[in-house]
Amino acid sequence: MGQKKCIICGAEAKFCIKGTSDCYCEECAEENFSDISMLVAVEEEVQTLKRLVDEKIDENNQDEEDSQDRSYEDESE
Ligand SMILES: [Zn+2]
Repeated sequence: MGQKKCIICGAEAKFCIKGTSDCYCEECAEENFSDISMLVAVEEEVQTLKRLVDEKIDENNQDEEDSQDRSYEDESE
């Protein structure tokens, strides 16, 4: 589920260009990039996304606490 596909041949993507949605299977990555170290492994990117989601959840929790403080201020006015 949610597997990334190679944008050239449609096979299962193993590498993506960092910061883009351009993904390549191992074969096409080697064909198109002399140095595939500039590409990030798909699994690595998934872990980065998971970390971003976790951070967002933390932010939302903090927002809730902030809005409680704000309603206190409203009552005093
Ligand atoms: Zn390919």
